[in-house]
Amino acid sequence: MKELLSTGRVVYVQISDELTSTDTRCREYYDLVYDTWFDTKPPRHFMEIPTWIPICDGRISPIYERQVYVVVNLKQAIEYFNGMPDAVLLFSVLDINKTVVQYLVHNVWNTCLVGGYITGADRERLEREPNVYWLSHPDELKVYLRPAKIDSPNYALFSGIRTFPRITLSEGCLHNCAFCSIPRKLVERHPVDILTQANTLLPLDFDYIYVDDKTFGQADNYTILLDVWNFITMHKPGFKGFIVQTTVPVATKLLKAGEIEKLHIAALEVGVEIPNDDYLRKMRKPYNLKQLNALHDELRFHPGLIFIPNIIFGAPGDNYADTLTYLSAKSDTITFVNPYVLTLYGTAKGDMGITSESSRYDVDETTVVKSWLSLEEQELTKAVLDWCLRKYEHKAYLVRS
Ligand code: SF4
Repeated sequence: MKELLSTGRVVYVQISDELTSTDTRCREYYDLVYDTWFDTKPPRHFMEIPTWIPICDGRISPIYERQVYVVVNLKQAIEYFNGMPDAVLLFSVLDINKTVVQYLVHNVWNTCLVGGYITGADRERLEREPNVYWLSHPDELKVYLRPAKIDSPNYALFSGIRTFPRITLSEGCLHNCAFCSIPRKLVERHPVDILTQANTLLPLDFDYIYVDDKTFGQADNYTILLDVWNFITMHKPGFKGFIVQTTVPVATKLLKAGEIEKLHIAALEVGVEIPNDDYLRKMRKPYNLKQLNALHDELRFHPGLIFIPNIIFGAPGDNYADTLTYLSAKSDTITFVNPYVLTLYGTAKGDMGITSESSRYDVDETTVVKSWLSLEEQELTKAVLDWCLRKYEHKAYLVRS
């Protein structure tokens, strides 16, 4: 494809979670707890709106017809695309969906614009396909498609979809946790950018917004959330507030200062991971158990707040004793947990002292099958994870009944 396409159809191709997830157990859990506590069941094929689509769609001219196609069945998708060979297909490729994308682009006639987060041999394999053009950044869309006059994310293709949209006040994080690949530089977004983001979300159906900052409260601009609240409630009077993620010490600070209520934070997600001081040191987590206890003491003064600790499963050598003790001892202040099965994407996932044998399961967050865990460790992890899911499902059922 050597020239700018001046008319035609653009198809954003999203691979359904159903095609890439090995195990649906966690997904069933999230459907229930999100529906119970936030009155929002995530869309069937993706937990959240795939943000690459609004980002790309905001960058291309309205002269193009455009649509989203969710791939659930490969054969049907190939037939569909080959029935419209002039359409340009756009893909976002990740470790988890790379084999599906590879298969699709190989079997269609369409021009495929592909970007994403794969490197090395995987990317080279895709780039060797004669109909594939690799984009290193969404800005490069303008090489192939006429650009929009104003570049701002466009959610119109997801209009009316019930979801948790995201808003970004800052990017990066100043901490240095061993398992995390978030950039260590903190960059604040400009207030105009933040309110523009809020404006673009209005076509969606939502009661809560997820604040994408990796450690909310770390960047100085976090109080702009009040302006975002004022703007959103002007357009959506039923808006209920924000979900933020942060560290144990910052969460305590926000609670003590009364900022949770002031900024309309409805849910607090905190990186507890493995509540064991030795592990915390090994993971370079920015908190200790004394601080975790102080946080839970403070939470008891905020009974309406939804509190969600992130818990890691599948770390090498973890016998879960401290996780189980923590979940039992603090159950009165925990609404539900976000279980996270450790994954390893090449070398890009930071350093947890684990190496991957490049098993396809090592990049799959939905399974405990991991090359660094023995069969016994996998069985233990599965049993504890299942216990944990059932515990908070039970709590959700009690609230619903
Ligand atoms: S895990 Fe959280 S606190 Fe740690 S470096 Fe990553 S974003 Fe920062």
